[in-house]
Amino acid sequence: MDALLVVDFQNDFCPGGALPVAEGDQIAEPINELLDSFDLVVATRDWHPPDHGSFVGVQVDPADWEGTDPPSIWPVHCVQGTPGAELFPGLDREKLDFLLDKGMDRWSQGYSAFHRSGLGELLHEHRVDRVFVAGLTTEYCVKNTVLDARRLGLDVVVVEDAIRPVEVEPGDAERALAEMETAGARFARSADVKRARAAA
Ligand SMILES: [Zn+2]
Repeated sequence: MDALLVVDFQNDFCPGGALPVAEGDQIAEPINELLDSFDLVVATRDWHPPDHGSFVGVQVDPADWEGTDPPSIWPVHCVQGTPGAELFPGLDREKLDFLLDKGMDRWSQGYSAFHRSGLGELLHEHRVDRVFVAGLTTEYCVKNTVLDARRLGLDVVVVEDAIRPVEVEPGDAERALAEMETAGARFARSADVKRARAAA
């Protein structure tokens, strides 16, 4: 069983948002094109409390912080209940089977879509053994989701034209792709995924 994961495709990560990714909005088309090709589509939202420890200006005792990056490094983004936290309106949300929220724990970074979201259990219940991953952003939530999926023993295909990087430092995106590949993820373009699934 295959599933399509749409990671954090939210207004704040798109142009005009609080933590915008260049061309973040452009992934709507390849994702929408794929939605009918999957029996199970799961989207996640970064869904932070207003005082989340990843936000600039929030004081966090490093001893309390759970994450691979330091706390207090990101602009305030994806605060629960705000327009910025909503799914990007260009995504055809009618076709989502499940919407899971993550990043709700104030003291943990919560990049991965598997982090205390129930996603692992949901995929297990549906006997999913392969996930196709799309969404934002390549170096953070997409990468950490892919690495967790591999740790759980799932086959992973990253839909390479349906992700976008933040690129805080030049080369970050390339390093993230290499890390995912080293972990055993494969890469494919959305049109090829669609064609292969239509033929299967
Ligand atoms: Zn976040």
